[in-house]
Amino acid sequence: MRLRVLGCSGGIGLGFHTSSYLVNHNILIDAGTGVGQLTVEEMAQIDHIFITHAHMDHIACLPLLIDTTITHRKNPVTIFASKVTIDLLKAHIFNNAIWPDFSVIPSVQHPFICYRELEHNESVLLHDNYFTTIPVLHTIPTVAYQLTSSAGNNFVLCGDTTIQDDFWHTINAIPNLKGLAIETAFSDEESNLARLAKHLSPQMLINELKKLSQDIPIHVMHLKPGQAEIIIRELIINNSSFKINLLFNNQFIEI
Ligand SMILES: [Zn+2]
Ligand SMILES: [Zn+2]
Repeated sequence: MRLRVLGCSGGIGLGFHTSSYLVNHNILIDAGTGVGQLTVEEMAQIDHIFITHAHMDHIACLPLLIDTTITHRKNPVTIFASKVTIDLLKAHIFNNAIWPDFSVIPSVQHPFICYRELEHNESVLLHDNYFTTIPVLHTIPTVAYQLTSSAGNNFVLCGDTTIQDDFWHTINAIPNLKGLAIETAFSDEESNLARLAKHLSPQMLINELKKLSQDIPIHVMHLKPGQAEIIIRELIINNSSFKINLLFNNQFIEI
């Protein structure tokens, strides 16, 4: 199982793209502006899209991806997400006002997209790999995805999140865990804003990592483009014991 980072920034700008991760060639986790890194041919191969939550930086390119590839595809794209996320997509994106309702176009029997609701801690098996939801705290219902390869290795890609306990209990119980990707959206100077927006700052992240009992690489992402330097500096100052590295565009992670 190979994860390719298409976008892992907390915002946009030259060279910065928001959350989107390609698994092998046909599965996407989140559909932020990182999707624009793919060719039309690569986009047309995507059969399954897992969404962590409905915030714009994680779905911005979802409507455009579907529209761009419909003439290249024979089968619908399946969108996997929680009921709340799917309801938000139906109400605010694919609502025949902002964008067409592709779940009934060209027909109810043969639509361009179909939705698949996921419960908390539900696993989906696709091509010998499991994708399991782990609920995380954020301003709206959000999940992390546990990716389990056919070899039995695990990697957790955390959506936007904040201070919590249950998530870490779940993470600590995962066998063969090879890494965790988690956010630091705000700098410590803006930790009040991070708390309000239910995100993490470097100091908050380091405190959260003290709840982690596994010795694994921590891949940090979702840094605001204009704040990246200060966030990195604060991570270095605060961290003394964790294996932290920055996720970057077009990074490949073998799981
Ligand atoms: Zn969010
Ligand atoms: Zn976000």
